[in-house]
Amino acid sequence: MNLADYNTLQKILKSEGFNTKKSLGQNFLVNPDVCPKMAKSACDKQTGALEIGPGAGVLTRELADAAKRVVAIELDNRLKPVLARTLADKDNAEVIFGDAMKIDLIGLIKEKFADCSRVAVCANLPYYITSPIIMMLLESRLPIDNVTVMVQKEAAERLCATVGSREAGAVTVAVNYFAKAEILFDVDRYSFMPPPNVDSAVIKLTLRDKPEIELLSENFFFSFVKAAFAQRRKTLVNTVSSSLNISKELLREALAAANLSETARGESLTMTQLASIANYIAERK
Ligand code: SAM
Repeated sequence: MNLADYNTLQKILKSEGFNTKKSLGQNFLVNPDVCPKMAKSACDKQTGALEIGPGAGVLTRELADAAKRVVAIELDNRLKPVLARTLADKDNAEVIFGDAMKIDLIGLIKEKFADCSRVAVCANLPYYITSPIIMMLLESRLPIDNVTVMVQKEAAERLCATVGSREAGAVTVAVNYFAKAEILFDVDRYSFMPPPNVDSAVIKLTLRDKPEIELLSENFFFSFVKAAFAQRRKTLVNTVSSSLNISKELLREALAAANLSETARGESLTMTQLASIANYIAERK
């Protein structure tokens, strides 16, 4: 069964009376080159693959071939009969129906992947919740090796930007704290049925054993970074002082201690510089 073939997919969906829903980000892949590449870069035969949003099962089938086992979480119950049919010949694939944002993923990984050497998350993510899903996966400190996912091209560029460059945002810093991020390849909009309004890219986040920076308080660091990137035209002193209620004097002191000008902006700072300012303030505020 070649689910990446437009006619095959159409035929199956039609015979099960299934229509895609835009509100659930249901753009199904119909480019045969994409899923094998994603599955191979995320997994090997010892890997437990966790997929979010299997849709009709096109990536699930490739993951079943590349990994030891695949567990896919799908929100839309209407896909039950479709997936029962498309995964019937894949004994090592299981679908759980529910919301990936609400399921206990640590428990699920322990239960389903105990005999796997590593776990990878691999998915063509629903675009309406790309960043929340990625941040949830990283912040919950799941015992995973990598997150290999398709996202909107613009989001890919932001997530994988160099911290300290114009393209970076608060989410870039957060991702960089937990993982090494890279864009693997681009995927154009016509690789999907129906085609979305934007092009996409597959990114790979390889989780770090340990962050590159040391923080006094992770919570404070992340609120500081959010504030520092919130208003790009303003200096860090102005934007952070007003949103976090920290004195401008303390902020200027922290910048001076890191050998930075008091007109510095969040987007121009490296991970080490951001950590040094946040730690200086966390120690004194
Ligand atoms: N993997 C399929 C493919 O590549 O053709 C489908 C990808 S489609 C972009 C996203 C899928 O995520 C849809 O099947 C949608 O129903 C599902 N989805 C949306 N929100 C979800 C959530 N919160 N939890 C789990 N699945 C979700």
